[in-house]
Amino acid sequence: MFENVEVLPRALEDYRGIAPDEQLEGIRKLADSFQGARVLHVNATAFGGGVAEMLTTIVPLMQDVGIEAEWRVIEGAPEFYAVTKKFHNALQGMDVPISDEEFETYLRYNRRNAEMFDEEYDFVIIHDPQPAAIHKLLLDDGRGASGCWIWRCHIDITHPQPRAWGFMCPFVESHDAAVFTMQQYVKPDLNVREVALIAPAIDPMSPKNADMDHATVANVLRENGVDPTRPLLAQISRFDPWKDPLGVVDTFRLVRQQTPGLGLQLVMVGTMATDDPEGHEWYERTRAHADGDPDIYLITSEVDNSVQVNAFQRAASVVLQMSKREGFGLVVAEALWKGTPVVAGNVGGIPMQLRDGLDGYLVSTPQEAADKVAHLLQHPDARAEMGRNAREHIRSDFLLTRKVLDYLRLFERLSN
Ligand code: UDP
Repeated sequence: MFENVEVLPRALEDYRGIAPDEQLEGIRKLADSFQGARVLHVNATAFGGGVAEMLTTIVPLMQDVGIEAEWRVIEGAPEFYAVTKKFHNALQGMDVPISDEEFETYLRYNRRNAEMFDEEYDFVIIHDPQPAAIHKLLLDDGRGASGCWIWRCHIDITHPQPRAWGFMCPFVESHDAAVFTMQQYVKPDLNVREVALIAPAIDPMSPKNADMDHATVANVLRENGVDPTRPLLAQISRFDPWKDPLGVVDTFRLVRQQTPGLGLQLVMVGTMATDDPEGHEWYERTRAHADGDPDIYLITSEVDNSVQVNAFQRAASVVLQMSKREGFGLVVAEALWKGTPVVAGNVGGIPMQLRDGLDGYLVSTPQEAADKVAHLLQHPDARAEMGRNAREHIRSDFLLTRKVLDYLRLFERLSN
């Protein structure tokens, strides 16, 4: 079998008082029917990215309620990841050519992993396109595949490149169920027995989202040269054109004009992979656009910066997320969970999390964003109330306990 990922134990009971009681009870009740059930999550990487982050919590929580959950990563190599990265972009609609040889490379690695597949499970959850062919290859080989197989799609495949989708579709359709983030991401002609919608969620106990006292927040700000006594706006995002970093700078300048004397600061925090030339290019563009403004701080990191993210999401009066396109936008849920109102682009998964006028505002231009931010800065009571609404909204709908519950509900539907 391919490689097992060890996870640290977690106790569902530790989420009591944080996640809604009815979710905890719901999980226990449904888990009764699946005591000792073998559940396998399969993806391509144990570190980095939202999928790995979520599995780090979901797998041990399932184990804690009596399910024999496992997480395994498929065997790959750089030539395979190069192809799957292209697939990822092509399935999200980018016009990248994929050669027959590249399709063959994809199949060769999936076949190798299918050959290694020598265990029996009740439920197998295959995450994203990288391992998507394993199930069909097992069937085609005549080896069979026991249990229910679920394909979990974390990307937006509404307008895929036809050639890439034509190749991938039979593999996807060989599963018993497919799971998408939201209805608009479901391909209408997808032919699987069960389609489920399960939105992403955040872990309230992780270093990125756990409570943090004022002194620690202020220290993180000072360490980064930011003044904790002056108000600030923040956007936490990779430097990426779809996150509109230049629009963030424009918004800040417009707000500052409308709120003279406030001493407003702007902080943009982003992780930057050393092998991501686009990230470096957009960081440089943003720096040039900021033009030496002493109130604008661009803070990058090449390692995990969860504590920084946590502190800035808390310290900000308003968090911006000026995305022009966004699959879900976990940063929105993260900031709302901290009771910070968010002003964000009205795109992709953002409106699911952010109720316009209740948790923050949905906007389409820097001018619109600036007007809303200025309003919030001038009305601290309204801001505080939005923050309280926002936290409760995330508590009820976007904590990982809800996600565990959604998976158990799907297992139940598939068992009937
Ligand atoms: N993130 C981080 N450090 C940063 C910037 C982002 O840890 O400097 C995290 C962020 O907290 C979130 C994830 O990266 O959990 C980004 O997810 P999102 O869905 O917002 O956007 P994506 O980068 O997947 O397009």
